[in-house]
Amino acid sequence: MSRAVVVGGGVGGLAAAIRLRVAGHDVVLLERNAEPGGKLAVLERDGFSFDIGPSLVTLPHLFEEVLRLAGTSLHDEVELVRLDPQFRYVWPDGSVLVVPDDPTATAAAFDAFAPGAGDGWRRFESAGRRIWDVSERTFFAGPMSNPVDLARRMQRPSDLVAIDPLRSLRRAAASCFDDPRLVQWAGRYATYSGSAPDRAPATLACIPHIESRFGCWYPMGGLGRLRDALVRAAEHVGVELHTGVEVARVDADDRAVSGVVTASGDRVGADVVVANVDAEHLYADLLPDSRALRRVRRAERSTSGFVVCAGVEGTTPDVAHHTVWFAADPMAEFDGFRRGEVSDDPTIYACVSSVTDPSQAPAGHESWFLLVNVPQGAAIEREAHAELVLDRLAERGTDIGSRVRFVETLTPADLARRYRAPGGAIYGTSSNGRRAAFVRPGNRGARQGLYLVGGSSHPGGGLPLVLMSARIVADLVAADHRAGRSG
Ligand SMILES: Cc1cc2nc3c(=O)[nH]c(=O)nc-3n(C[C@H](O)[C@H](O)[C@H](O)COP(=O)(O)OP(=O)(O)OC[C@H]3O[C@@H](n4cnc5c(N)ncnc54)[C@H](O)[C@@H]3O)c2cc1C
Repeated sequence: MSRAVVVGGGVGGLAAAIRLRVAGHDVVLLERNAEPGGKLAVLERDGFSFDIGPSLVTLPHLFEEVLRLAGTSLHDEVELVRLDPQFRYVWPDGSVLVVPDDPTATAAAFDAFAPGAGDGWRRFESAGRRIWDVSERTFFAGPMSNPVDLARRMQRPSDLVAIDPLRSLRRAAASCFDDPRLVQWAGRYATYSGSAPDRAPATLACIPHIESRFGCWYPMGGLGRLRDALVRAAEHVGVELHTGVEVARVDADDRAVSGVVTASGDRVGADVVVANVDAEHLYADLLPDSRALRRVRRAERSTSGFVVCAGVEGTTPDVAHHTVWFAADPMAEFDGFRRGEVSDDPTIYACVSSVTDPSQAPAGHESWFLLVNVPQGAAIEREAHAELVLDRLAERGTDIGSRVRFVETLTPADLARRYRAPGGAIYGTSSNGRRAAFVRPGNRGARQGLYLVGGSSHPGGGLPLVLMSARIVADLVAADHRAGRSG
């Protein structure tokens, strides 16, 4: 077996390291930050705890799959709670839709919200089910170096039709819902890959289906518990994990990689290098390659985010674990993103984890994580923008301003610095445009023995997808090893 170096300890990197180690490789993981986990990070202050990256867990079986390989289980490692209700949605006109964790009750909630919308939801949901059932065994099941890879995994022409790649998510939603508020609701799922409702494919309709069918989950103690479980599993199987070690260079000749060199000049030899860093960082800095870099830049970056973590005194009536306050104009903020403009009337998402988990805030207090989408690379004045977000929240009926004890913020520049994520893109690459899935970097790199795992490569960003990319990379390494192409 070979010696593998994983560069970056994000969720994709940790999962890939575990998989490769279990497959018999010697694995060294090098993470530049003091803590592994990458964007899955936690902020603690004055007895409050905030998940400052992902706050929603879907498809937890993908964590289970990796932990099982390491001889443990999700159940043994974390206490997962299936949230009910899943989300509370609030519109500027004061209308509210609460989505429960039950399909029949969800259809009824849609009907109560707008007469007849229950049927629309059922149609939207069953289209999402078809998309998921096909894409799970095709798009997500293996590498995507070119469309032929995907075509090979399709069993019949109707599979391609089922994943609805040509219509936008917004158009698909408009074909199911007459009420523009519900088209706005459905379009929100484009933001799960940092994309826009009118530019992301209808394929993303599988996400609300996934939430409805498999649930929205929260690990008690916060999402850091999932990171800790992966780290324990990695150490248990014998991954050599080093934090505070920045990789400065991937060593390679024109043909193959031979290891990495750290910023302090240490060389780690390897015949497999798995880059969990953003593909742009890889080909711009670690293994300068103008051709590969040009290809990577064909993929549009995902949006970034502006994060406000607020320690709040007292309790807020009607607050849910996950709440979304929609903007008045459903498309204005997304149209602005194309021009690099930050909206002053953004959709606001809040995760108030203390609703479910008292450990997240001192008694009688709440921990608020607020996220608004902003264009990647946007320059943001943090105090002013935090104030804007809290003001908009107050205008939309939830005024926490006077109860805020402190605020911590993260701008796109902070995200870029913390995770070496170009532009502070929170999901890596977006799903905007019909070609997005095909121009996103594949999992095989530009040299023999080089592989890419994580949000900037196939199949994209978000915890479930980066866990899938780890599986795809481990399969590729095994296939290449059998074919004598690595190790
Ligand atoms: C604010 C926010 C909210 C989000 N919300 C959700 C959500 O609710 N649900 C969801 O599923 N997903 C969400 N995501 C997305 C999700 O967090 C990411 O898609 C996922 O965590 C990315 O994992 P990754 O494997 O790509 O690695 P990353 O998290 O990108 O980690 C890469 C690692 O590589 C390290 N690194 C970079 N360069 C070097 C180098 N030269 N040497 C050594 N190490 C290096 C970095 O320090 C980092 O730790 C959110 C992300 C953010 C930021």
